[in-house]
Amino acid sequence: MSEFTDEILSCGYTGKVSADMKSNIIRAIVLHSTMRVVPMLDQLRKGLQLFDLPKVMEMHPDLCLPLFVPGEKDDRVDAAFILENCHPVFSDKGSVKYTKEVNVMNFFQDFLQEVEDCGEAEQMTAGKVMQWMTGQRHKPILPSDQKDFNITVKFNHDCDTNHTVCFPTVSACTRTITFPTAHLKTLNELKNIMGIAMKYGHHAKAQFDSMTKGIENQ
Ligand SMILES: [Zn+2]
Repeated sequence: MSEFTDEILSCGYTGKVSADMKSNIIRAIVLHSTMRVVPMLDQLRKGLQLFDLPKVMEMHPDLCLPLFVPGEKDDRVDAAFILENCHPVFSDKGSVKYTKEVNVMNFFQDFLQEVEDCGEAEQMTAGKVMQWMTGQRHKPILPSDQKDFNITVKFNHDCDTNHTVCFPTVSACTRTITFPTAHLKTLNELKNIMGIAMKYGHHAKAQFDSMTKGIENQ
């Protein structure tokens, strides 16, 4: 506790700093932070008064609440949110590669829709898919963050035919997912590969190999 002594004293607490004074210390900290916030809220209130908003807030608290409190309901990710924010880097229109890429995106859309409709039974939600792709499970709260929230979708066409499978790779920090088109020619392939990739992450390939080996040996 002694490592927090400076912080505790700077909150205006003057008693003994020890565990048995916990409730007194907490009271001092809460008071200190409330006192700091009150002038800010006062300023905010003055600003809102310019637009007569406090009156509107009194009359319609429910309508105004989401303006100030990030809602539980709204930050849940659904299939539509992921798709809206996906920006595929397509090859030239009309090329063979382009056709494959459009197919993959269609399968991905179907996959997300299925996850949304009946994924909970398999512990799969759109939020989990997004977390796997981007590292975050919820929609960004601030409108400015929402505007910048892009998921780049790339396609890898360079698989050779000497191996059984590749998994989509994700880079959460740049919010990029790369689909290996050679292994995603049907919806079932995509569902299977996404399931394994999300469950086992970097170990997906090893897991897949041991699973297929098991089947061969039977
Ligand atoms: Zn491959």
